[in-house]
This record gives sequence, structure tokens and C-alpha cells, in this order.
Amino acid sequence: MRPARALIDLAALRSNYLLARELGGGKALAVVKADAYGHGAVRCAQALQDIADGFAVAAIEEALELRAAGIGAPILLLEGFFEASELPLIAEHDLWTAVGSPWQVEALAAFASPQPLTVWLKLDSGMHRLGLDVAGFRAAYARLQALPQVGSVVLMTHLARADELDSGRTAEQVATFAEATAGLDGQTSVCNSPALLGWPQVRSDWVRPGLMLYGANPLPQDSTLTSRLQPVMNLRSKVIAERWIEAGEPVGYGARFVAPRRTRVGVVAMGYADGYPQFAPNGTPVIIDGQAGETIGRVSMDMLTVDLTDHPEATIGSEVELWGGQALSLSELAPRCNVSAYQLPCALKRVAREYIGGQTQ
Ligand SMILES: *Cc1c(COP(=O)(O)O)cnc(C)c1O
Repeated sequence: MRPARALIDLAALRSNYLLARELGGGKALAVVKADAYGHGAVRCAQALQDIADGFAVAAIEEALELRAAGIGAPILLLEGFFEASELPLIAEHDLWTAVGSPWQVEALAAFASPQPLTVWLKLDSGMHRLGLDVAGFRAAYARLQALPQVGSVVLMTHLARADELDSGRTAEQVATFAEATAGLDGQTSVCNSPALLGWPQVRSDWVRPGLMLYGANPLPQDSTLTSRLQPVMNLRSKVIAERWIEAGEPVGYGARFVAPRRTRVGVVAMGYADGYPQFAPNGTPVIIDGQAGETIGRVSMDMLTVDLTDHPEATIGSEVELWGGQALSLSELAPRCNVSAYQLPCALKRVAREYIGGQTQ
């Protein structure tokens, strides 16, 4: 079997969730959209279910997958419903839905729900993607409150630049949210991971941590807080071939690496089709049998190459860590490859996931 695999540390996931909730000071929805940022939504939700206040996903398909796996906790659809025809399923499976467009309010008004629904009403406080403006938000709030098919309304917004600690934009968004929600009855939800880690003055009843659950720091710098995050995924594979090449010989597509000396090349079963960044530069750090090593040449679809010249013990079957574990963290690797720490695990494909640190089962 191909040796590419991702070890997922569920104890680290739980620890990160508890940290997020502690920082938020209230309740926390664990954001497990996009298959838990590549970590496996069902297994992650199962590992969190005895401690999590609820989960959040991008769409009903993701919510139904969790329900089918027996997750009974609240699940919020962060983008709400895409078509009114989803409303019966939302009611049947007891899902919470965000509402951020007038047509969604009207669809709810037209839906004869068997029980009152929990709605998260979304304010566009400045991200200008989803949500209603202040006047629209207050009007929608009044309309929803009057509907018998709506139970509670949670007041939410989303921050666009919380990872920029020197930006005034977060304070502006928070002020707009305060203005829009003034005098309205309902719990609030503002913070994502960068807000929890970087903006202690911004708090709400419900927080929505995503990336930090997986142990990655969304901020450009480390701090005492971010040092409490525990990496969850360790991406690993093995050396599957090795050869000596003479100085001046190229390696791989486009000959991006040319050997400056007689070089022993190791081929690792990990490529961009697995989610490793295609444009990782020559010299990207990896760990080879526990020792610091580096990549050489362009990453191919199924393989990448490392320099084994100074790793005389390394051979076919040697373990190579690509990120997490002893290797670079997602937050360290991403900027070297011109991608974000969010993108790296989300791109994971074709890699067997092995779960460790689980409680029982
Ligand atoms: C994805 C998402 C989150 C989680 O964001 P992180 O930066 O990963 O913590 C929170 N809220 C909303 C609305 C989202 O779409």
C-alpha cells in the first residue's frame, strides 16, 4: 500500500477546542466544514461530541453526514440554505440555519415548520460577502421574531481582518455590530479563530473556532496564547526510491533543482495530488527518520524528492514527515509555499487518515 498517511491526534483536537471555549468565555461551535478542514468531519465531531456545544458546517450535505453518523448536538449551517426546498430537511434534522438574505427570510415566512427553528441572523458588518446591512438586519429581526416558525434568533456577524492585529477594521466591524444589535434580545456570535487568539477585547456568547481547532495559528506571529495550540495533523510518507546523481544533473520536472555536488536523491510518495503544495520551493524543510532534511526539485503529482546526501542511514522505507509532528507546522509551511494555513489541510486527498489519541472506541 502507498505509504502516504495523515495521523490525526484527537486528544490535541479536544485540547484546542477547550482552549477556544476558554478564550471565548461562553459557548463554542466547533467548525467542521470542508470535512473538518481535511481532518475528517465525522471522526472529529465524534471525538468532540461529549464536550462541544455544537458544530458548524457550510452546507446541509455536511450536516446530514454528521447526523447520519449519530451526531445529535446542534449543527449550524453557516451559509444557511441555498434553496427553500432544504427547509423541511432542516426541520427534520433539527439543524440551525444562518439567514443573511431577504429571500431567506421570506422563504422561512412561507415555510410551515413542524417546530420552531433556531435562526442565526447574519449582519454584514463590513466583510460584504454574506449578511444584511444594519437596516435590513433590524427589519429582518423584527419579521423573524413575529414568525411562529422561528424560535430563537442568534445575532451573528463575521470578521474579515481579525488576523491583522494592526487593522482598525475589526473595531469598526464590532462597532457596527453593536449598533445593529442595540436593544435586540438574543445571544451574539462574532469570533472566529483569529479573533479568539488576537482580539481578547472582542467577545460574544457563541464563538466559532475553525482553524485553531486543528492546531494551526491563523495569526502572522506566535504568542503565548498560540503556543498553547497543539498540532492535530502529522502528514507522513516514506522514501520509495533513491539514487546518486552527479554534480550538474537535474532532478524532476523543469529541472528546477540542479545538483551542486554529487547528490543522493530520495523519492517520497507524496505529491500535490495528495495536498502537498506544488510550489514548495527547493529547500523546504522535512523530517527524514527524525532528522532535519529538505526537498529538492519540483513537487510532482504523486511524488516529491528530498536530498539524502547527508542522511547516509536513510533508505527505501525511511519515514518522511511533511508537516506537523516534528516537521514544520501548517502556519510555518504555508507562507513558504505562498498558500494559507487554511488551504493546506483542506487540500488533503488520497491520503489515508489514522486517528490517534481517541477516548474510547
Ligand atoms: C469558516 C468560518 C468560521 C471559522 O473560521 P476560522 O478562521 O477557521 O476560525 C467561523 N465563522 C464563519 C461564518 C465561517 O464561515
